[in-house]
Amino acid sequence: MTFLYKADPNRGATWKKLLAREMPELPFRIWPDIGNPKEVRILATWQPPLDLTTQFPNLEILFSTGAGTDQFDFAAIPPTLPVVRMVESGIVQGMVEYVTLAVLSQHRDWRTYQDQQRAGTWQAHPVRPASSRRVGVLGLGNLGRAVLDRLHAFGFSCAGWSRSPQQIYDVECHHGPAGLQALLARTEILICLLPLTDSTRGILRKRLFDQLPHGATVINVGRGGHLVQDDLLRALDAGQLSSAVLDVCDPEPLPPEHPFWSHPKVVLTPHIASMTQPETAVDAVIDNLRRYRQGLPMIGLVDRARGY
Ligand code: NAP
Repeated sequence: MTFLYKADPNRGATWKKLLAREMPELPFRIWPDIGNPKEVRILATWQPPLDLTTQFPNLEILFSTGAGTDQFDFAAIPPTLPVVRMVESGIVQGMVEYVTLAVLSQHRDWRTYQDQQRAGTWQAHPVRPASSRRVGVLGLGNLGRAVLDRLHAFGFSCAGWSRSPQQIYDVECHHGPAGLQALLARTEILICLLPLTDSTRGILRKRLFDQLPHGATVINVGRGGHLVQDDLLRALDAGQLSSAVLDVCDPEPLPPEHPFWSHPKVVLTPHIASMTQPETAVDAVIDNLRRYRQGLPMIGLVDRARGY
């Protein structure tokens, strides 16, 4: 049984060292050094090879090296092959930091004060208590819940939206298409932490922006495919939205002439909200391999029917 890693080779070297410590018996190879392809049983990758099934006929588990699996072409992956996304604490910590930074910057008018400084203006604006600021999170999974937990600790008025009904202490939880309207109507800072699926693609569009209170902020840390870019530009230019923070876009990177690069109301970062951390990722993979051997369900196993 060989474990094959097909992503950044430098990170792969760290994975190899960490895995060898806990599972010295498991042969570990880094792409393109695949060895005997018939021996490859486990593949960890961001982008599988095109001929996955013919190249690795005995594959037993496909791990995504990231939290999402929307980059996979599921039509090319046998339906019986377990696909496991990355559920590890390093990704969660990074996301919590990024979203907290974005929310607090908006809440405390950081951009306004930066503009004022450059203009030589000394002017204070009222400081609103966090308890009066209504924050809403689309997606109540690992990341959405962790983000809400931290924002709640700051005292923000928190709400969230998911596919199925969820309960989170002190968070107003909505679900399903009917619940979205109620969430949007009360949300001044909206954070997208949904997986990209057929049902969520393009969700950040005019119809959604129009249901937010005038002057709301949108923070997209999900995927670029969640956003209809022209609708966002129109909503910003019309003042329906006051600002947008975009960590993800489509394509990545955007072409040099794209208006987001220089738009005064857009903060754009290069998909860095959170990154898989090798130490904690390898712990998660080892835990899942042990579960797999014991016949227990793996953490982060993708439900193909739901798409996440
Ligand atoms: P997760 O644990 O699978 O949670 C997904 C959440 O979205 C669940 O609450 C789910 O509802 C909800 N959801 C899915 N489809 C929905 C729909 N059609 N309507 C309403 N709610 C829906 O995922 P996660 O680990 O929190 O990660 C979320 C996403 O964050 C990833 O898929 C990835 O795209 C993105 N991400 C971005 C970065 C970055 O650096 N920017 C890093 C990591 C991850 P249920 O609770 O009912 O299942």
